[in-house]
Amino acid sequence: MRTPFLAGNWKMNLDRRAALDLVAALRERFADRDDVDAAVCPPFVYLAEVVRALDGSPIRVGAQNCCDEESGAFTGEVSAAMLKDIGCDLVILGHSERRHVYGETDELVNRKVHRALATGLDVILCVGETLEEREAGRTEAVVRAQLQGGLEGVDGAAMERVTIAYEPVWAIGTGKVATPEQAGEVHAYLRGLLTGRFSESIAAGVRIQYGGSVKPDNVRELMAVADVDGALVGGAALTPDNFLPILEFDR
Ligand code: PEP
Repeated sequence: MRTPFLAGNWKMNLDRRAALDLVAALRERFADRDDVDAAVCPPFVYLAEVVRALDGSPIRVGAQNCCDEESGAFTGEVSAAMLKDIGCDLVILGHSERRHVYGETDELVNRKVHRALATGLDVILCVGETLEEREAGRTEAVVRAQLQGGLEGVDGAAMERVTIAYEPVWAIGTGKVATPEQAGEVHAYLRGLLTGRFSESIAAGVRIQYGGSVKPDNVRELMAVADVDGALVGGAALTPDNFLPILEFDR
């Protein structure tokens, strides 16, 4: 039985005050709970303070990106080791905004995955098709290439520290949510790919999150779908009013 893993991706939103208010609300609600696996992923500049604010809480802290290189002359980049150093637990890699706005390729995402894992960070690896790709019947081919490319050279033991997030690009920030059937089909397909690439028992342990306009009023039906093991949440992760009911969805 996989414990659902729910993570909030703040993207480039919130200011310091709003960030600290949000994590204070999360901290208070989850002070004595060990039955929830949840994370927040603030912008880089707020990470250290959020880590401190959540110290001793079960809520984990992740970054939204990291550099593929270890250290050196990479102006504007942040290394996996720096994230680990300040107390981050995980990093989101291959988010569609990184792929489509900043041109990240599967090869680059794969190098980042290796760097993050070698540094001791857990990874949320995002995959997902655009509307054009879905309409052209290419959903499986696209997510297959992203999954296989992103995990190239990753061994089965490391998969304990990897979560896959299926995020159809057409559902991110648009209010258009995948139907439970659409999500279920792709999640089952991804699970099958993981089984082929690793083994049935390793694939059975990997959590596959759904992401794309998850809200308090649709989280329950999405999480009820076989092979959907949590959510990566953008807009609705920015306020306690939305994020708390998502974290506490009726399991
Ligand atoms: C995301 O940023 O990964 C995301 C799924 O965003 P939203 O929930 O706003 O669609």
